[in-house]
Amino acid sequence: MKKMIWAAWVALFCYHGSANATLNVVATYGWIGDLVQQIGQERVAVTVLAQASFDPHFVPPKPSLAVKLRNADLLVINGGQLEMGWLPPVLRQASNARIQPNSEGFLDLSSLVTLSNPRPHATRADGDVHPDGNPHYVFNPDNMAALAYGVAHQLCHLDKAGCGFYEQSLARFDERWQKEKQGWQQRLLPLKGKQLVQYHESFDDLAYWLGMTVVANVEPVPGVPPSASHLEKLLKRLADQQVVMVIQEHFRDREATEWLAKQRQVKWQVLPSDVGATPKSKDLFSWFNELVERLAP
Ligand SMILES: [Zn+2]
Repeated sequence: MKKMIWAAWVALFCYHGSANATLNVVATYGWIGDLVQQIGQERVAVTVLAQASFDPHFVPPKPSLAVKLRNADLLVINGGQLEMGWLPPVLRQASNARIQPNSEGFLDLSSLVTLSNPRPHATRADGDVHPDGNPHYVFNPDNMAALAYGVAHQLCHLDKAGCGFYEQSLARFDERWQKEKQGWQQRLLPLKGKQLVQYHESFDDLAYWLGMTVVANVEPVPGVPPSASHLEKLLKRLADQQVVMVIQEHFRDREATEWLAKQRQVKWQVLPSDVGATPKSKDLFSWFNELVERLAP
């Protein structure tokens, strides 16, 4: 009898423990939402602000986004100024003190990794350049361990009763990521040392991870689409280069990169730039699987 009462009490306590511990987490982008979900599992309720079909630099700052932030316990952002054009007004409208920058419920993932190519002296003439460095760091899978650790640490800080749980799911996630990463690296090994052209600087860190060189961006400067004469000049400039592919993100116009790839008779690929951008890219693992499939020679 005593045993039964104990079991019932434990069940009751645990039930209440987890029900109270559920954290409302808002993530700016799909990949961040999935990372939080993979670490937090049933202890978190995750909402994503940006639809994967949008350009992550220019998400429409609708009032409905502020509503989503109103009851959040934690806001997790990409940082590196990627959300600079749309998140600040939404965050002000939400008037939720818990998730403002520098408060306990705010996590900027860019603070956990080293951003490539910082340009502190950039001016307006340089276009929509990100002065803190390239914010598209998620495309280097070597960064994921630090990002996952940072998320687990933050969840544990806000939900102390769940620390052991987060630690375990972090270990599981990390083990699986490392294993998959080796497979991806193996599959893309033939690309090592080769050259590519990209539309925007989105894939700098991916190229670095693969040991590839980005020889040109199709944009004359970040945020400015290429003119026909710019494309002609670029084609001439590439004449001596051994480019093997031209790539771009899914949300952009495709004519420029397609034309360039056709002129050079090289592979042309449109890559999903976030979890949820294609039906196959359901979570971080399937997203990277799809990227690898599309890049593989
Ligand atoms: Zn960018």
